[in-house]
Amino acid sequence: MKQYFLIHYGEIGLKGKNRPQFENQLVANIRLMAEREKIKTSIKRLWGKILLESNQTSQEKVIALLQRTFGIVWFAPGKKVSFSWENLKKVCGKIAQEKTFASFAIRARTGGEKIPRQEIEVKIGDYIRKRFQKKVNLENPDLTFYIEAIGPKTVFIFTQKYPGPGGLPVGSSGKALCLISGGIDSPVAAYLMMKRGLKVDFVHFHSYPQTSRNSINKVKDLVKTLTYFQPKSKLFLVPLLPLQKKLYLSCNRRYLVLLYRRAMLRIAEAIAKETKAAALITGDSLGQVASQTVQNLSLQNEAVSLPILRPLVSFDKEEIIKKARKIGTFEISILPHQDCCSLFVPKHPATQGKLSVVKNEEKKIPLEKLIHACLKEKEVIDLSHS
Ligand code: ATP
Ligand code: MG
Repeated sequence: MKQYFLIHYGEIGLKGKNRPQFENQLVANIRLMAEREKIKTSIKRLWGKILLESNQTSQEKVIALLQRTFGIVWFAPGKKVSFSWENLKKVCGKIAQEKTFASFAIRARTGGEKIPRQEIEVKIGDYIRKRFQKKVNLENPDLTFYIEAIGPKTVFIFTQKYPGPGGLPVGSSGKALCLISGGIDSPVAAYLMMKRGLKVDFVHFHSYPQTSRNSINKVKDLVKTLTYFQPKSKLFLVPLLPLQKKLYLSCNRRYLVLLYRRAMLRIAEAIAKETKAAALITGDSLGQVASQTVQNLSLQNEAVSLPILRPLVSFDKEEIIKKARKIGTFEISILPHQDCCSLFVPKHPATQGKLSVVKNEEKKIPLEKLIHACLKEKEVIDLSHS
């Protein structure tokens, strides 16, 4: 049997030229994510809304898909009906028979269409009231019949609205590359930027074989989980060990984390340029650790020219954990692993690094050459949600 879903997206703030791009991207994302999850759909763009038709026998899979598709404000499963008083009575009457309720309201929405909104509310309201002995309650009804015009002679009838995740369709804001560590923060940062319409690819730096492959496996699982929210993801795995060893042997140890981070950002920037990503994303939160003071963050910014997006900058750890639980990454993030940045670092790293010192330290090693060597060894994996 065919199932229909009416999908509404956020219109506020959608400026003229952005609108078609936003709509096309949203339709493409629903289509790709449905295909990937083996849900057969046919999707139609209507003015300001989308109609999805599916052959899926159960609604649940489609509901779960739409609930995590950014850009959707709300959606509703319902019936597509060609407009006539007979049809409206038949469909609303069937709903009234199936549902248990004492009071009800009719809410018609006809926009610019030529279907009479008030007349629908009055006529169908009267019909339900008399035929089924129910009370009208416009303030707090047990059941609302929504009747929305979706064409000059077609309406959509539904009784339940489901909230979508809001935000903007993934890809409508461009593409970014997230530095993902295997910890709790960076997956949440990626999620939040996807929500603002960025397609996110990922880069992870590891110190294998000095550390185990645990962090790599964790990151793969994290990226798979995050790919629940976008059609597909690329994960770049970069060995950092040769560069770390050189920094460790030649440089001021109090600056090691800062030097690691600047090197990571430079490598990430090179990958971003190759893949046409316009920004980098990190899970930094102000003051959380020594490398995340304002001073040290500015020293990291100085290493690259691409913007670094840090959506968690103002978040407390508790708030980050709450989000991580909600999106399903927390349980993976807390599995044990050794981060490459914890290798060889002193107990008291510099919290107020100086640019002149950083520059001086970086001159002690052949940085460009080492960065090239790391880039040459990178692996890339295409991940999909499974
Ligand atoms: P997370 O929970 O994401 O690990 P954290 O609290 O451990 O964050 P840091 O280890 O200081 O914070 O890392 C700050 C940010 O630097 C991370 O959120 C991530 O964006 C990036 N980062 C750290 N280590 C790595 C790594 N091995 N590979 C890629 N990015 C990393
Ligand atoms: Mg970390």
